[in-house]
Amino acid sequence: MALYSESVGALIEKFSSLPGVGRKSAQRVAFHLLSLSDEEVRSFAETMIRAKETLCYCKVCQNMSDKEICDICSDPNRDRSVICVVEDPRDVISIERSMEFRGRYHVLHGVISPSKGIKPDDLKLRELVSRIDGDIKEVIVATNLTVEGETTAMYIAKLLRPLGVEVTRIAHGLPVGGDIIYADEITLAKALAGRTRIG
Ligand code: ZN
Repeated sequence: MALYSESVGALIEKFSSLPGVGRKSAQRVAFHLLSLSDEEVRSFAETMIRAKETLCYCKVCQNMSDKEICDICSDPNRDRSVICVVEDPRDVISIERSMEFRGRYHVLHGVISPSKGIKPDDLKLRELVSRIDGDIKEVIVATNLTVEGETTAMYIAKLLRPLGVEVTRIAHGLPVGGDIIYADEITLAKALAGRTRIG
């Protein structure tokens, strides 16, 4: 005997495909959703679809945005001479929370990983190079302190150094093998303040 109707089973299946959601949580969320009114469920679904449809990448920094140029890139009070390079849009949120950085960002959308078949061409590196002009004085590489993150940082250093820009790497404070997403604000602030030249 099936435990759920086919449609409820399918819903639980969908939720359990999300990152960090186990079978039990998927079941809880699915049943909660089914207890809501039709209108609430529709509004939930529409919010998801709208977020997906309006999503685009900022033309400058490649961060997720619903505008052609994101709020950070268009903010005249941000320091235009420094770019902080990160792997993932969530890293921008973490670093913004640290309140340590007043420049602009560049989101790579991944890191070089031979084991996963991710090559430099798969990242937003061309877009980064195209941003380097006379106004950019420093590029801080804030990829995670993992093997892939380090490889990517060295690659960026080699790529940008001939363009006459200083390339620095966040260093102290973050645990080796650690993800920026999970770092607290103080650790991140220290890591940024203690950045070092690489390459
Ligand atoms: Zn931007």
